[in-house]
Amino acid sequence: MPNLTNIAYLVSASLFIIGLRRLNSPATARRGNQIAAAGMLVAIVTTLLANRILSPLEVIGGATVGAAIGLYLARTVKMTAMPEMVAAFNGFGGAASALVAGAEVNNLLAENIPMQPTETVTILISILIGTVTFTGSIVALGKLSGRINGNPVSFPGMRALTLLAVAGALGAGGAMALAPTSLPSVAGMGGPLAAALGIALLAALLGVLLVIPIGGADMPVVVALLNSYSGIAAAATGFVLSNTALIVSGALVGASGLILTTIMCDAMNRSLLNVLLGGFGGDSGDAAGPAASQEGRTVRQTHADDVAILTSYADRVVVVPGYGMAVAQAQHVVRELFDLLSKRDVDVKFAIHPVAGRMPGHMNVLLAEANVPYDKLVDMDDINAELENTDVVLVIGANDVVNPAAHNDPSSPIYGMPILNVENARNIIVFKRSMRPGYAGVQNELFFNPKTQMLFGDAKETVEGLIGEIKGL
Ligand code: NDP
Repeated sequence: MPNLTNIAYLVSASLFIIGLRRLNSPATARRGNQIAAAGMLVAIVTTLLANRILSPLEVIGGATVGAAIGLYLARTVKMTAMPEMVAAFNGFGGAASALVAGAEVNNLLAENIPMQPTETVTILISILIGTVTFTGSIVALGKLSGRINGNPVSFPGMRALTLLAVAGALGAGGAMALAPTSLPSVAGMGGPLAAALGIALLAALLGVLLVIPIGGADMPVVVALLNSYSGIAAAATGFVLSNTALIVSGALVGASGLILTTIMCDAMNRSLLNVLLGGFGGDSGDAAGPAASQEGRTVRQTHADDVAILTSYADRVVVVPGYGMAVAQAQHVVRELFDLLSKRDVDVKFAIHPVAGRMPGHMNVLLAEANVPYDKLVDMDDINAELENTDVVLVIGANDVVNPAAHNDPSSPIYGMPILNVENARNIIVFKRSMRPGYAGVQNELFFNPKTQMLFGDAKETVEGLIGEIKGL
């Protein structure tokens, strides 16, 4: 029933697009995810049943096991470990595309069907990009989780080895496309299959070589890019199998991953090439303590009781959340602080920087999880206009996204990055544990601003302390 199959694929593609569209806003993102997941279910069930790969009972069994694993992962993975999980998903997606393409080469050989050049090209793209995505994602996962050293790794001759691997893979691919019948068989394997395996091995090496020179802190951008690769590999596999749903979903993932990569690079004011050439933001070794001073300058330190008075009697307070809030898992106590101050008629808003945290939308997700009303989350451009009239800014675990060096210091690695102009507010309170720098590894002039006071400690504990003091007023 090819017509029914095509209609089902059309339905699933529409669901993907509607789902993606709804990811636009935190208010509709959850539903968007569910709609896209329903689209994927329709596509998978249709493919399995239309090709008589599995019986309906086996489909239900597989879906139940898959859903149970997914549910377990979704419930147990920490929000800060989300980029690692996405890296793992990308890697498996890439590996699946490469394996399917390899199996197709094997099938064609077994049935003695000659490979057409266009078919060979799509198979090659699948194997090459799929395998690069797999090993690249494994290295990214290792760096993100700290199992592999996060510092950029390079060795003499690395570029030459990379170029050699690219040339070898393209050479084997070219031979496979242009003269598949003249390829010699290796260890009992038909020539094209041996060439496909050789390309996969070279691509596996390439994936490692491309990701190890990149610093651990740039891994989220790399993960977004690998996400795009996994989509391209899947779309190529869709062409290999003539499966419309796979082509559409792969193309959507490929394009959205690339858009996301570009947005992240723009918000960090870095070019993609600059990220890929690496060397930025490895593991920070700076262990300066709370009382650290820079060039003889000291910072003003404050305590929860003073901040309680300052915020309770303010008209307008803006909270700037950052990576440290995610690490401390302070979003729920921050919500409690919001409730407490709102009850005292303080106008409290949240300033959301597009790259605060370690993944796009990180702060939106955390604050949504803590049920902070969406209308209180204000984008950078809008809140910047309001900061001049703000009595107190609470910078909770954010650093780079409020660093004025982005405006003032052309030699800074973050120069040109759009930031939240918190120095325009009347009072600035910074919640962090020490004077250690953030992701970019640079010191923050804001901490030495006469309007700034530092509240040192773990963000969850200091916010809890502040809540206790406000309650006691
Ligand atoms: P930063 O990484 O600049 O700073 C985070 C701060 O949080 C640190 O200075 C740290 O100081 C503090 N911190 C860490 N743990 C705690 C804790 N338990 N309690 C209190 N404070 C804590 O974060 P930002 O959110 O300001 O900036 C994000 C950075 O990440 C940007 O440079 C961005 O370009 C980059 N990036 C973002 C991506 C994204 O998609 N969002 C992707 C890739 C990179 P201390 O150790 O002293 O406590």
